[in-house]
Amino acid sequence: MSKQLLKTVKLDKKARSDSTGALRRAKGIAHVAQLLSMAQTKSEVAKTIMEEGFAVLTAKSGDISLLHEDGSFEIVAQKGYPKNFSAKWSSIPQNEELLTSRVLRTKKAYFIKNTDELDEKYSTARTFIKASGSQSGALIPLKLRGKVVGVLQFTFKKPQDFNREDKMFMYTLADQCALAFDRVMALEALKTSRDQLEIILKNTADGIVVQDINGNIVYINDVGAHLAGYSGANKLQGVNLTALLKNFEISDENHVPIRIQGLISRPPQKSISQVLIHVVHKKSGEAYWLVAKSSSISGAGGQLQLQITTLQDVTQVKELERRKDDFISVASHELKTPLSSMKLFIEILLKRLQKVGETQERVYVEKLKQQADRLQMLVNDLLDVSRISNGKLQLSTERFLLNELIEDVTNEIRLVTSHLIEVKAEEQVYVFADKYRIYQVITNFLTNAVKYSPANKKIIVSVSKKNSKAVVSVKDFGKGIPKSDQQKVFERFYQVSGGKDGSGSGLGIGLYISKEIIDRHGGMISIKSNKGKGSTFSFNLPVA
Ligand code: ADP
Repeated sequence: MSKQLLKTVKLDKKARSDSTGALRRAKGIAHVAQLLSMAQTKSEVAKTIMEEGFAVLTAKSGDISLLHEDGSFEIVAQKGYPKNFSAKWSSIPQNEELLTSRVLRTKKAYFIKNTDELDEKYSTARTFIKASGSQSGALIPLKLRGKVVGVLQFTFKKPQDFNREDKMFMYTLADQCALAFDRVMALEALKTSRDQLEIILKNTADGIVVQDINGNIVYINDVGAHLAGYSGANKLQGVNLTALLKNFEISDENHVPIRIQGLISRPPQKSISQVLIHVVHKKSGEAYWLVAKSSSISGAGGQLQLQITTLQDVTQVKELERRKDDFISVASHELKTPLSSMKLFIEILLKRLQKVGETQERVYVEKLKQQADRLQMLVNDLLDVSRISNGKLQLSTERFLLNELIEDVTNEIRLVTSHLIEVKAEEQVYVFADKYRIYQVITNFLTNAVKYSPANKKIIVSVSKKNSKAVVSVKDFGKGIPKSDQQKVFERFYQVSGGKDGSGSGLGIGLYISKEIIDRHGGMISIKSNKGKGSTFSFNLPVA
């Protein structure tokens, strides 16, 4: 064989071994990439790099360090290091004499072709590499979005030249390693927050149900499952809510049955809707009072995606309320009879004393009569409250002239107050209503106007017709009511400042009764008020 031919064959062999080496590495990198894409945890990523990556590189030992937020770093995985080194590696402060620190600081790779040539400053690294049976090494920064997040270190048995391809291979491996860490750390963070959310939802006192647009349960917590008559939430995943609700009799606050076709509301509501429902499990007979609050989650295009409903068990609260109602009902009925006979005897006494003439005794008995009248008004109000809560407030309607009724009431009030009551009547307005009940409402508005405007004595009562409605307003220039309390004054027993403002007697039920009366007539009650300037209470009724 000629010299020339021999040279060609030798070159050919080298090229072939080079290309098979490159192929082996390319295959190796592809394999590592595939394994990394399946890794779910930090330790799985580390294991893949340590075992598969190092094998392709024929590295003897090495480690992966990750940077902490405080600037220190941690060796999260290592392979082939002497045992006595391992213990110290949890959190290492940066140090000028550590090669890892140098790479973290300069953000550049560092190659040690031969440990014997290593700068004296890095003697720790030399001792370390030698102790692991190696003579060369490389430290490659792990970079993510331009930031160094750690260092990948390899050591090799023999001194190395580190050609361009070697370096390219190590850089590729480091990039894959950094990306895989980033992904699994995001996954872990997501899992942690999902687990936390699950714990929160699981331990909330309210039932939580999430359903999709087909009414299928996407999520339900244990409390929700329990309210649905199930021992655990897992049995209800994917179950159709409409089908599930067939096991219950559901009614509203007044025990009127309601049919809930799933709880999905269409179109999706931005605000939270709230209903109080009474739920009876048909099989077990178990019954609950629930406050169900629903809100919708919509997609970017506004289409409804999910509905979240929270179910608050208010059975105990309702039970207390029922007992309170029972007490009010019993107490007011028990008070009614002795009070009536007391009033009867007061009347008899008064008649006798009137015959005698103006005596001190007569003044006393007249005062007694006034107090008994007040007491009777309170008892009547309490009786009304229990009538309302039992749905027994009866109306006996007739056609009458509202203007006349207003004159009667104002004249009565004028007798007992120094306030100046002005009546503004634009026209004659007839209504078809329960005269006594409307008298009650106007009296309540007027006595409140007197009670809550001790300094400004002017009161204006007006009656008019607007859009086939009769409108009655009572305007005072007294204390007024803060905005935040204005709707609450119609609630049962509600008094602004808890009734402690020294405005005199009252139970906070006059406006509650008034509202019920007007509602039952198909009218509307309303309030306009400015704190410190006065209030206007109005109601409207359909004209006759
Ligand atoms: P009360 O017997 O306490 O007057 P109401 O139901 O009639 O009960 O009124 C409820 C509360 O509304 C009152 O306690 C008072 O705080 C407030 N309120 C009612 N009318 C007026 C008014 N004209 N001006 C200021 N506050 C008022």
